[in-house]
Amino acid sequence: MQKQNPEERIKNFSEVALGLNEEEAAAEAKRCLVCKNPSCVKGCPVEIDIPSFIKLISDKKFKEAILKVKEKNNLPAVCGRVCPQEDQCELNCVLSKKGRPINIGSLERFAADWELAHSSELIAHRENLQPMTNELRAKVAIIGSGPSGLTCAADLAKMGYNVTLFESLHKAGGVLVYGIPEFRLPKSVVEFEVEYIKSLGVELKLNFLIGQTMTMEDLKKDGYKACFIATGAGLPYFLGIEGESLNGVYSANEFLTRINLMKGYKFPGHDTPVNVGKNVAVVGAGNVAMDCARCAKRLGAKNVFIVYRRTEQEMPARKEEIENAKEEGIIFKLLTNPTKIFGENGWIKKMECVKNELGDPDESGRRRPVRIKGSEYIMDIDTVISAIGQGPNPLLLGRVQGLKINKYGNIIVDEKGMTSVDGVFAGGDIVTGAATVILAMGAGKRAAREIDTYLRNDK
Ligand code: FAD
Ligand code: SF4
Repeated sequence: MQKQNPEERIKNFSEVALGLNEEEAAAEAKRCLVCKNPSCVKGCPVEIDIPSFIKLISDKKFKEAILKVKEKNNLPAVCGRVCPQEDQCELNCVLSKKGRPINIGSLERFAADWELAHSSELIAHRENLQPMTNELRAKVAIIGSGPSGLTCAADLAKMGYNVTLFESLHKAGGVLVYGIPEFRLPKSVVEFEVEYIKSLGVELKLNFLIGQTMTMEDLKKDGYKACFIATGAGLPYFLGIEGESLNGVYSANEFLTRINLMKGYKFPGHDTPVNVGKNVAVVGAGNVAMDCARCAKRLGAKNVFIVYRRTEQEMPARKEEIENAKEEGIIFKLLTNPTKIFGENGWIKKMECVKNELGDPDESGRRRPVRIKGSEYIMDIDTVISAIGQGPNPLLLGRVQGLKINKYGNIIVDEKGMTSVDGVFAGGDIVTGAATVILAMGAGKRAAREIDTYLRNDK
């Protein structure tokens, strides 16, 4: 897939990957063997009929192709851009043994973008919507409008339920709108997919914090018969080192929310300034860290460092994103850990780091970083961004009577996705801890099926 060239793209926030054109998509699709027993589908958490939609693309039946994808996936333009296909469907593709699996993610994105380009009328919805067969029409509340909540809401609406989706922020999408930057996932794409879900009949209530604006008891009194909690993992972890409260030290959540949700990258056209200075250190090496580093570069920082305590092999970010970051001149300081931040007049000036070596594997199976004595050194730094992970926001959890959570604060669910409270289901990052878009969507899909069964039995 063509990309913007690195020298150009570090000066803008436009999308980096440019997508396939019709000829390129059809040519890639023709390589597919249309296997009778397709192993790729086993790698897809939302069970898309991959060979069928690829065959439709190779026959240039693009409208039919997107309809086929949307039978199972309510957010194809999002998934085609951010899902780790290399670890899922593409890894399972029979052709991966020969080193060149079908580029399933790019084809999914192509089909979704074709719909975006060819219809402001949501054709896939209008022509494909099931008749409302469910005479129950019970009210179901979904809390949180990230990929998990959106998927559950869409599937329940397709079954005929009366779904309300509550979101505490002023925009729907969860991490898709406040976390992942415009150059990886344009917000117009997320809006298009949210509009599709609304067009299925889902009522969206924004600026609505469940636990505060309304409690779970209020929802019950209001006639909601079941509920799906999909509140994600939005609480940042901090480094826990001296100097962390200085000005110029951000959590990744705050940094990315300012830039993406509050449109800081368009300052002064929008009101949220984000000043990064010359030298920026991003601590961590997941997708979140890569996003922060690449945003900082685009905001004008001269030197942007990824500071990571292990080696490249252990980095949790997608390979593609690590490559993009390298192409954009991000500097990787590996086997390095920050130990102290120094300031002047309340603002960060320097950061002390130590060098590590790898020891024996820890409980995660990865080799443990071990500090090398006497290896301390100082870096001149204007901004530090902590991207070492996120946990569940405890705000709602503490207010639901009888809700069981584990030692990390994640909701405990049974094999059906139901929590310890009858009729209350949960899924996505709030259950698994910070994971991926497609796993959150898979949990939303499963929950919709189980809520349907629960409500039918309840009747
Ligand atoms: P979220 O997306 O977190 O959505 C939860 C929503 O619930 C939020 O909108 C929140 O405001 C709302 N909420 C919380 N509490 C309440 C309440 N009490 N009342 C009402 N609403 C509430 N995954 C990938 O697969 N590929 C990637 O490239 C990728 N990149 C990422 C980059 C970043 C910067 C981040 C942070 C994550 C990334 N991820 C990526 C992970 C992925 O985005 C998450 O796993 C996924 O969004 C989880 O979905 P979710 O629906 O569980 O929660
Ligand atoms: Fe096509 Fe690969 Fe799936 Fe076979 S496994 S149907 S070749 S994408």
